[in-house]
Amino acid sequence: MKIALKACFKHAFLLVFPIRCLACKTVLFHIHNDGLCPECWSNIHFITTTICAKCGHPIQHRYNYRNQLENYRHICNKCQLGKSDKVNYLDSIRAATLYRGTVQRLVKNFKYDRQLLLRSLFVRWIMQSAREVLNEEDVILVPVPLHRRRLRWRKFNQSAALIKEIHAINGNSYILDLLVRIVNTVPQNQVPRGEERWANIKDAFEMNKAYDISNKNIVLIDDVITTGATVNECAKVLMEQGGAKKVFAVSIAKT
Ligand SMILES: [Zn+2]
Ligand SMILES: [Zn+2]
Repeated sequence: MKIALKACFKHAFLLVFPIRCLACKTVLFHIHNDGLCPECWSNIHFITTTICAKCGHPIQHRYNYRNQLENYRHICNKCQLGKSDKVNYLDSIRAATLYRGTVQRLVKNFKYDRQLLLRSLFVRWIMQSAREVLNEEDVILVPVPLHRRRLRWRKFNQSAALIKEIHAINGNSYILDLLVRIVNTVPQNQVPRGEERWANIKDAFEMNKAYDISNKNIVLIDDVITTGATVNECAKVLMEQGGAKKVFAVSIAKT
């Protein structure tokens, strides 16, 4: 009887305060799949296969014996063949999902509505995909900074929000103002892919000299990584100006 009453109460509560899918907002009658409806949930592409140690992209082709010999670090064809003129300052990139379908929708919702439920959802995904990086000894989490004008307009930095939640769960230390964006660049998604994105972000960051990060491992946190130009530029500053030991990049998604 008690159980039936409890169920009745729960149903009445859900009728008055319906729970909606975090992506498409349809009403949910059961809460599972991280607060997403079955359709949205099935439209998420988690990166669970072998990934490229440099860019974090899933490796589609068959196992490459030659790569296995290089300290078990698999490098995708694109990273082996292309971008040879770019200096890579990153140790590796880890992304939890591919930036398409439901994830695109969720990230946009997060940026502009700063939903707390989404923050915990993303952090759960990040902690699964980047567990090894986050559990490296003495890593410091650092957000990719927004320019102060953009921050004033947007009112919050989504990367900093993710970091605070990771800290609460995993205990990692963090510095939110280690990097400063000195140039208010055009958002990377409005710049054509390729060379122009690398040029757009060049010299856009500076390090806050109030901190000593020499010989420290830094984990850059970003929401979406596209060409990797932004996180690579941040890593360059951390290595050249701060003397960081290694810089990793971790994100919710990559394109
Ligand atoms: Zn949905
Ligand atoms: Zn790659």
